[in-house]
Amino acid sequence: MDSSIRIASRFPEMGTTIFTVMSRLAAECGAVNLSQGFPDFQAEPVLFEAMHRQMLAGRNQYAPMAGLPELRQAIVDKVAALYGPRFDVESEVTVTAGATQAIFTAIAAFVRPGDEVIVFEPVYDSYVPAIETVGGKAVHAQLQFPDYAPDWARVKALISPQTRMIIVNSPHNPTGSLLSAADLDQLAELVRGTDIVILSDEVYEHILFDGEQHASLCGHPELAQRSIVVSSFGKTYHITGWKIGYVVGPAALMAEFRKVHQFNVFTVHAPSQLALAEYMQDASRHLGLAAFYQEKRDFFRRLLADTPFELLPCRGTYFQLASYAGLSDLPDRQFAEWMTREVGVAVIPVSVFYADGRDDRVVRFCFAKQEATLRAAAERLCKAFVKPR
Ligand code: PMP
Ligand code: GLN
Repeated sequence: MDSSIRIASRFPEMGTTIFTVMSRLAAECGAVNLSQGFPDFQAEPVLFEAMHRQMLAGRNQYAPMAGLPELRQAIVDKVAALYGPRFDVESEVTVTAGATQAIFTAIAAFVRPGDEVIVFEPVYDSYVPAIETVGGKAVHAQLQFPDYAPDWARVKALISPQTRMIIVNSPHNPTGSLLSAADLDQLAELVRGTDIVILSDEVYEHILFDGEQHASLCGHPELAQRSIVVSSFGKTYHITGWKIGYVVGPAALMAEFRKVHQFNVFTVHAPSQLALAEYMQDASRHLGLAAFYQEKRDFFRRLLADTPFELLPCRGTYFQLASYAGLSDLPDRQFAEWMTREVGVAVIPVSVFYADGRDDRVVRFCFAKQEATLRAAAERLCKAFVKPR
């Protein structure tokens, strides 16, 4: 349909998110899709049965704005069991339409035009557009290739009177790096005495390997008082398409969060909240996730061991970074596109997570896949890159 109106685009430079671009290209080319992060296997039928039962029982009308009490209680219990503090069910937990909405809402609630928000590059793709939508300014700190650890002295130098928020993400997408308890202490020292809010994206909180413990901001008494902590059931229960997550945080922060949440979402799909509240009762379902994904990580790393990809450390998440510097000089976007078209394996180029397009010749593979999928991808990669002996 034609339209004659002239639009002064809010975001003239903005393209389509890389996850959509690469998944679409993978489908067009019939490539094995290891780009966008989602499992290609099913969650347990009992979860779907629970939702169906709740629908048939008539639980199909609006849930309370902050989420159904059954699910809020289950979240509060889980957070208390894992990290210590017991958030108030009424005033300190809100169910959201996934982590993306939670992050956007938190930014809209706290960041005013002209405020600065410190983010760490490589930075998950939704943070900066959300900051800019509300008129804030993203200030970029760096996680340094190849171990992607924060440099707190440099972060300190970026803090100004305009700094309203710092966004952290651990386990980290795309790098698989982790914040340690010592990192949290350093962060606490930097923000002590300021009014800076911390937004902590912990959607991979249950996916850490080799016995590492998740350093949740919920478990840091000083930081917890100034933090909104985000998680997502999509990652934890293999249901990214359900788009349900949650935030926890002190009542005063949550009250501000809900001022925005109530008018851009109001409330989230009720039957799935009830199903998740039931499903969460068995803690082994989230506690078993680390071992489940560690097996997949190790399997995938073994499959790629003979290829010229240099596998970077992966301490958490379901993403494996790999340097291809030893096998191509192409910029990473071109390399990812070429791999998708010619080799038949789709990946994410990591330069898209940098404002200046910094390109370390690194791509991201998602290993949240069935063994057969990972094997099919590895066969294609070995055929393309491993010379017969
Ligand atoms: N943050 C990070 C770091 C993510 O990787 C993702 C999704 N993969 C999200 C937020 C968004 O989660 P959701 O699908 O629940 O919106
Ligand atoms: N977070 C997922 C990833 O990193 C994708 C989510 C999305 O497509 N927005 O691949």
